[in-house]
Amino acid sequence: MILNRFVGGPINEPRLKKVYLINNFEYTTCNYMCKYCFLGKISRDSCPVYQSRLSRIERQVEEYIGKYGLRSVKSILISPIGEPTLDPNLPTLLKYMKSYGVPVAIYTNGSRLVEDRIFKLLKQFDIVTVKFDTLRIDVIENLNKPNIKLDPEKIYYNLVKFRREYRGKLYLDVMLVDGYNDYREDLDELIAAIKTINPNKVFLNTPYYPNRGGARPPRNGTISYIYSRLTKFMPNRVEIIDYLPEPYSNKKIEDPIEEFIYLSTVNPMTVEDAYEYFKMFGLDPEETLEELIRLGDVEIVKWLDREYVIANVIARRLT
Ligand code: SF4
Repeated sequence: MILNRFVGGPINEPRLKKVYLINNFEYTTCNYMCKYCFLGKISRDSCPVYQSRLSRIERQVEEYIGKYGLRSVKSILISPIGEPTLDPNLPTLLKYMKSYGVPVAIYTNGSRLVEDRIFKLLKQFDIVTVKFDTLRIDVIENLNKPNIKLDPEKIYYNLVKFRREYRGKLYLDVMLVDGYNDYREDLDELIAAIKTINPNKVFLNTPYYPNRGGARPPRNGTISYIYSRLTKFMPNRVEIIDYLPEPYSNKKIEDPIEEFIYLSTVNPMTVEDAYEYFKMFGLDPEETLEELIRLGDVEIVKWLDREYVIANVIARRLT
């Protein structure tokens, strides 16, 4: 898959609310292959690195922000189709994004926090969200399927250190998956670790959208168990993610269809949200969606009890 679009939004991102979304990759590039990944199959490479095309990204961002402004945006989020720290140009990209004067956030799987250079780089972001699903190596190997040697204890140790030294906001994102990390004793271990890390916020997430490995939400009672245990020592700092990123109304968007295809590539979207999006631009929802399917731009994917609109390039990789 080649993606030539590097900026979109604003979207209502469940953790950060109103953000512009920056994708610095043309190809999915990740050192994990999570079962619950929305991006479908990721080709295995023993040392994936992707050097982003900075001048193209900067040109697009400048043009986009020039047209649509930044006034109502809470932050700029670097969350590409893969793991952002695998981009050697990330320090330069961060410097560029910071020049706009709004908080710059990043979403990382945390695997590279153990590297001094990445640890220091992440400290320069205003908000860092780190994936933190388990402390068990066998679960990481089965659920996240890293293609590097990982030591979860070392990642945990570095997260504790990071929290102590970092002046920005640290969020943890816990993806709970049926049969992998929803056993009580493992949850208790995870809760104790979160308590020690003491992040600004914890987001409890579940794979309720179509994904690569057929990962399913955890068994009944898991979310309420972890939520009630966590809120005892960090009240008002635990949130359950129960909706997908939604596009905001932005009447200024010149090409709402191109924007829609970009958003359906980087995020799953329900059919209902897609209809709402088309209505915002005065388009007939059903006709527009049918036309996009006919043109081969998007597909409808059924998952659990809902239907999702997903860019064709992604939908093909989910099966
Ligand atoms: S969910 Fe994130 S970390 Fe996992 S494979 Fe997909 S892009 Fe990589």
